[in-house]
Amino acid sequence: QRFPVVVVGAGPAGLTIGNILRAAGIDCLVLETETREFIEQRPRAGVIEEWAVRGLEQRGLAENLLARAQRHTQCEFRFGGQRHRLSYTELTGHHHYVYPQPLLVTDLVREYADVRGGAIRFGVQDVQLHDLDTDRPAVSYTDPETGQQQLVQGDFVAGCDGARGVTRAALPPERARIARHDYGIGWLALLAEAPPSSDCVMFGVHPRGFAGHMARSPEVTRYYLECPPGDDPDNWPDERVWAELQHRLAATGAPPLTEGRLIEKRVLDMHNYVVEPMVFGRLFLAGDAAHLTAPIAAKGMNLALHDAFLLGDALVAYVTKGDSTGLGGYSEACLSRVWDYQEFSQWLSEVYHGTSSGDPYRAGTTLARLRRVFASPSAGLAFAESYLGKDPNS
Ligand code: FAD
Repeated sequence: QRFPVVVVGAGPAGLTIGNILRAAGIDCLVLETETREFIEQRPRAGVIEEWAVRGLEQRGLAENLLARAQRHTQCEFRFGGQRHRLSYTELTGHHHYVYPQPLLVTDLVREYADVRGGAIRFGVQDVQLHDLDTDRPAVSYTDPETGQQQLVQGDFVAGCDGARGVTRAALPPERARIARHDYGIGWLALLAEAPPSSDCVMFGVHPRGFAGHMARSPEVTRYYLECPPGDDPDNWPDERVWAELQHRLAATGAPPLTEGRLIEKRVLDMHNYVVEPMVFGRLFLAGDAAHLTAPIAAKGMNLALHDAFLLGDALVAYVTKGDSTGLGGYSEACLSRVWDYQEFSQWLSEVYHGTSSGDPYRAGTTLARLRRVFASPSAGLAFAESYLGKDPNS
């Protein structure tokens, strides 16, 4: 078997690249360890930046999203028992879209496999990369139906297999630097079968720990609770979760949260990493395979889409016109946005977690930071711009 491009991983990054290639008539093979049903239901992100939606739209990938996504124009911080709203759309003219990641993945896989006729294998095992520093790289995997090992040759390999994949490990340590940051905190990530309790995202900055509220759909809401890293979700029975959320998100004049059955409860140990460069020979990493941002600022999927647009377009330019400019500048162009978002995540993390750190000095500076966002128009605008993410075309 031979394909110009082999894409490892069918998440937002891999499927977007596959779609861009197929739209240009380029054959590619997407390899995915999970089943189609699984990836179409895996809950994760929801907040998508406006420029990313435009990027999907320009590539014919946003029809359902634009018809169904909610538009968000403001967010609310709750601290000191008070509500503080920031209308970022009023400040910038831009907004966020909220569209659950499983719906986006469902749209992308349908478009790639069923409409654009792209090849995809689900449930593959033992994926391994070979000969990446030659112009004939290859990927081997075990076929789930036959149990046979298959070898696929390509001109390029796109490593889009997320934080737990294998492609990042194929970069020789002497050719790539991995920068890692551990926040030393955990978040209990929750999905509730309950309508949102506010028309916007809410951040509770509380001495007992951060709490977050993010709409996903009219029926489902994502919540977060700061907890010790490595905490066991079993330590968090539903009654404790709701009591803590009600307490940390309480504010004068705010109605209590609407409670419901908790359908996801897992602890995330908050950490980030960045691989530099994101390229080795004919292997190009994209998305979480290359860089992770803890969901503090809701940036990971947006970065995955940014990489995918650049890599998809660069591969098309090379395969159809022999133009290697995009591939040559790929890593640098991605990393500039990656580091920008990493810095904002760090800034925001201190805002979320300084008050509960137990250190009165950090608590004091955190509250000063927050007050400045609301008191100073230029600080409010700077926050809004980072929160929305810069439009790559502006
Ligand atoms: P993934 O989505 O992880 O896709 C990788 C794919 O590769 C998977 O399907 C996986 O099964 C497959 N795979 C793994 N190993 C192999 C292998 N060896 N061979 C083949 N396939 C393999 N981001 C935002 O922008 N906004 C948000 O609001 C947001 N909220 C989040 C909330 C939570 C709780 C979490 C955990 C994350 C959140 N994120 C958010 C981050 C976002 O979900 C990720 O950044 C995004 O999924 C990255 O996309 P990706 O395509 O790079 O990787």
